[in-house]
Amino acid sequence: MTRTTSATTGTSAPGAREHPRPRLAVSSCLLGAPVRYNGGHSRDRFLTGSLFGHVDWIPVCPEMEIGLGAPRPAMRLRTDGHLVTRDGTADHTTAMQALADRRIGDLCDLDGYVLKSRSPSCGLSRLPRHASGQPGERTDGQPVDRTGRGVFAARIRAALPDLPTEEDGRLNDPVLREHFIERVFAHARLRELFASDWRPRDLVAFHSRHKMQLLAHSPEGYRETGRIAARAGDRPRADLENGYRRAFAAALAGRAGRGRHTNALEHLLGFIGDDLDATRRRDIATAIGSYRQGRAPLSVPIALLRHHAEGEHFGYVADQTYLDPFPEDLLLRHHL
Ligand code: SF4
Repeated sequence: MTRTTSATTGTSAPGAREHPRPRLAVSSCLLGAPVRYNGGHSRDRFLTGSLFGHVDWIPVCPEMEIGLGAPRPAMRLRTDGHLVTRDGTADHTTAMQALADRRIGDLCDLDGYVLKSRSPSCGLSRLPRHASGQPGERTDGQPVDRTGRGVFAARIRAALPDLPTEEDGRLNDPVLREHFIERVFAHARLRELFASDWRPRDLVAFHSRHKMQLLAHSPEGYRETGRIAARAGDRPRADLENGYRRAFAAALAGRAGRGRHTNALEHLLGFIGDDLDATRRRDIATAIGSYRQGRAPLSVPIALLRHHAEGEHFGYVADQTYLDPFPEDLLLRHHL
């Protein structure tokens, strides 16, 4: 089985694949730092629990970094994009945008970012926006709409569009949580490859290991990354890196629903089925069917395929990252 060469996380099961150690930025309050406007925190159980030891954290509190202490006056977004205190007496927009522009350089090397929802600095989506005095806007103090994005988060997203980003609240959804963590670990594997003295054949091998993962997320992205990898020896290195990185990130950003997972599982069974006896082939096919019908979680057919691929030394299948995309003890596929 192919293994990464960098610092790796602990693994929970004998024989489990070693995984890279992603670099994950996070709104500091989610790790329990008392930096909120009211002097409190918003500690997140998943981030500070099962995920905590598997990643290197880069905590960022933009409001503290622009010199506001805790506690401090609460802030809000306006429809003109400004970040102001609730009473309107202070405008921190310029300072916040300048901080984001300074921080973007340090954050380029990340594998993901978890942002605090509902924050006018860190929130990614659906933030209340308040009137900025334009004609026709309501004047009763209530939000004009809920289409805002935090000022710091907006700048980071615009500068790093391929970076996996998610809000804490959405990570409570098992499907969104698994998808985000899968993208983060895949991003870390590719970052480590491109940080090494890689050769075109290394990219081809990387791509080969990720084929089923790409197929499960985006059949078109699977084909596009395949086209890029096939020409790996013909393009300048920087051009190849940029092209593959973008196509890889775009493909994995696609949502892998039950139908696409079933397709990937059936592909994997197709690779090994002829070499298994009828009983074992039927067991795997039954598990895939149960998953497709919603009667078994994804972890069931995955465990069977892994077991047989590793036990029978089907190297191509056993090496597929799709079967083991992140540390097993996160248990993320038991709820899909
Ligand atoms: S949401 Fe962002 S700005 Fe607010 S306390 Fe948390 S890290 Fe700081």
